Amino acid sequence: MSRLVVISNRLPLGDNPSGGLVVALDDALRSSGGLWIGFSGETVAQPSDTLTFHDGAPFQRASFDLADADHDAYYLGFSNSVLWPLCHGRADLTDIVPDHANGYRRVNARIARLMVEHLRPDDRIWVHDYQLFPLAAELRALGVRNPIGHFLHIPFPGPADCAAMPNPHELFEWLSQYDLLGFQAQRDLSNFTESARQLAEIEHLDGNRIRLCGRMLRRDVFPIGIDTASFIAEARNAQEEDRMRTLTGAQMMIGVDRLDYSKGIPQRFRAFQLLLENHPELHERIAFLQIAPPTREAVEAYRDIREETEHLAGRINGQFATVNWTPIRFIHRPIPRHVLAGLYRQARIGLVTPLADGMNLVAKEYVAAQDVSDPGVLILSRFAGAAETMGEALIVNPHDPWEMSEAMARAMCMTANERRQRHSILLRGVVEQDVSWWSAGYLDALAMTQ
Ligand code: UDP
Repeated sequence: MSRLVVISNRLPLGDNPSGGLVVALDDALRSSGGLWIGFSGETVAQPSDTLTFHDGAPFQRASFDLADADHDAYYLGFSNSVLWPLCHGRADLTDIVPDHANGYRRVNARIARLMVEHLRPDDRIWVHDYQLFPLAAELRALGVRNPIGHFLHIPFPGPADCAAMPNPHELFEWLSQYDLLGFQAQRDLSNFTESARQLAEIEHLDGNRIRLCGRMLRRDVFPIGIDTASFIAEARNAQEEDRMRTLTGAQMMIGVDRLDYSKGIPQRFRAFQLLLENHPELHERIAFLQIAPPTREAVEAYRDIREETEHLAGRINGQFATVNWTPIRFIHRPIPRHVLAGLYRQARIGLVTPLADGMNLVAKEYVAAQDVSDPGVLILSRFAGAAETMGEALIVNPHDPWEMSEAMARAMCMTANERRQRHSILLRGVVEQDVSWWSAGYLDALAMTQ
């Protein structure tokens, strides 16, 4: 079997690395004697011009460092202040700086140069996510002819957002150098096709084959899953001391998101406020736990969201709390996965209401963690990629506080029978389409490109 070479922005470091992507790729990397390449997480004054190899995993791992200025331009700048907001429908939050676009290209070119001497003629290369769009083009320029696939973990922008990129045509030229483009959802495939039609040259051949900017390639949808079996086990083993208790015996509603503007956290707080205004019978009966660890605080667009969220939580608690009941608990720290698993299992409602999201793994984790005999209800935004395969959730428009608050009220009084029926269908999907199913499907499709 030919060797699998994976490249992602961050290399999973440490002994026995874990995480969804590691589990997904472990088998394929192990059985092919594979190699995973990624950023070490270290910025240095003078980055090395070779990769650094790391022991401690059942496959080879190699990292690169970045110069401070390159990290600012490539990662904080172009990736997270241009591509991230555009892919999440927030052109208004972009911060376009020509130097950052140059840094993005420069870093991708450097990664290609570092990689190339370690590649073998029959390697399959799998590139992950928006930080590395130009990588295939840079590798091709160095003479690499191997099959190269790309998987985009976040949404693909529609024509209006693509057109707000500094040089939109270039994005499609970069993408045309892959042999397989993978997307999370049909929505992304449609956006890609429509944007390419308006901003580049695209021609449909047969099946999933297209000609993009003159080069033949394939594209398809591969919805990512979670490591379902281990999540179910983790939720069952959750420790009693990590349970949330309220003095009034309220049912818990849980939200778990990085504190990112794409996650719709303020909108969800306003919907909860509306619920408490319109449903006094739910006072002291529902308690909302929002876990929202900090993220990308060095990026300007993230500065205000903490203040806005804390202000809203404070106002709602001030208005509705009683001596025995705090309506919202807001935790601005990361919570370990095994504790989350137990909290999901305890929660009557899982609230997943992003304004835009590639997939949203929390939705799948919440379903996996439930007790099948008395499961909770998932409230899910129609703008999460997960909504395409999780239609048994209560699907809501995250911009509509009325609809969201009524979904919360409905979830609170849903019969055990209806909860079980919805949950069993959702769980079947999360079990069948887990992260190993996802990576196997992608790698089969990459093999077909030859
Ligand atoms: N997560 C975690 N601790 C936290 C918050 C989140 O371990 O305090 C995990 C969560 O369980 C999930 C991931 O982070 O696996 C978030 O993935 P998702 O697709 O929902 O959103 P992303 O952060 O990738 O946009």
